Amino acid sequence: MSRPYNFSAGPAVLPEAVLEQAKAELLDWRGSGMSVMEMSHRGKEFISIAAQAETDLRDLLDIPADYKVLFLQGGATSQFAMAPMNLLRGKTRADYLNTGQWSKKAISEAKRFCQVNVVASSEANNFTTIPPRNEWKCDPEAAYFHYTPNETINGVEFHHIPDVGETPLVVDMSSTLLSRPLDVAKFGVIYAGAQKNIGPAGLTIVIVRDDLIGQTIPGTPSLFDYKAQAENDSMVNTPPTYAWYIAGLVFQWLKAQGGLEAMAQRNQRKAKLLYDAIDQSGFYNSPVDPDCRSWMNVPFTLANAELDKTFLAEAKKAGLLTLSGHRSVGGMRASIYNAMPEEGVKALVDFMQDFARRNG
Ligand SMILES: *Cc1c(COP(=O)(O)O)cnc(C)c1O
Repeated sequence: MSRPYNFSAGPAVLPEAVLEQAKAELLDWRGSGMSVMEMSHRGKEFISIAAQAETDLRDLLDIPADYKVLFLQGGATSQFAMAPMNLLRGKTRADYLNTGQWSKKAISEAKRFCQVNVVASSEANNFTTIPPRNEWKCDPEAAYFHYTPNETINGVEFHHIPDVGETPLVVDMSSTLLSRPLDVAKFGVIYAGAQKNIGPAGLTIVIVRDDLIGQTIPGTPSLFDYKAQAENDSMVNTPPTYAWYIAGLVFQWLKAQGGLEAMAQRNQRKAKLLYDAIDQSGFYNSPVDPDCRSWMNVPFTLANAELDKTFLAEAKKAGLLTLSGHRSVGGMRASIYNAMPEEGVKALVDFMQDFARRNG
């Protein structure tokens, strides 16, 4: 029996081939006599799993040698605090761009540590656009510039990397990292919670440029110090071993798919199929400015919100799960991460067209 298609925003769908491999290796990882869950993180088996995952991630993103790759816990939310703790480096101010719910959370957490300069905000139009670059009021004394390249809740994505001069760019890529190739050298820090587009919850990836580490604010716990984690191969304490292993399987799966160039083409096709169906329907509506629509998270509304419950119930019967929109936005949201096959998006579009015919 084939599994239903899961459009959850996160924790989200994983490649079926990865789940099958994990299942096959669950009781005995490659003759070790142990599950990966049961291994010492200091043993040679897990060290090899960890190192392979880092190598594969470096290959996929072509990460330059002067960047550290960390495999941490705490989710993207922990990075809302770790970014200022590590990156202020004696300064007292940081720039933040506010483009959605996750930007807002990053801003409110950063305010515990520094003076936050919100350079621009799209809140006035319900986070459906990106404020134009010429309206950003950047602070030349900012220690770093933080933004959210893909707003998971609002469905707003940057399709370019903004230029803010010398200020290091710090980005929350939780729901877009690995969806396409990325010029890592343009960034100071890239972080992502794994449970959207990388692997299971509990793992947080941080990619940080060497010159930015080692100047934490006083009182920073060693667990939250990028330098301490880098010097200890992300093992200041026990890392999230099983999540790290699964992420490693996902990296290998991505390589087998043809890498990030191939994923980008597939993701763009998937997004186009869905947005075209919405735009041409006369029944569904995408609230987001077409110039910054997300490839990964697609919010949409029905012509009549009273049909929402029926839509969700019928979708579920058709094997299309977790399409309910975020409570702050309403309507529907289809998350179509790397692991969502094109057939899944086609099945959703077919269902939507049929539903509109019957209810429009
Ligand atoms: C899900 C998400 C978060 C929160 O992640 P946690 O791992 O729950 O802390 C932060 N930022 C973005 C962009 C997200 O999509």
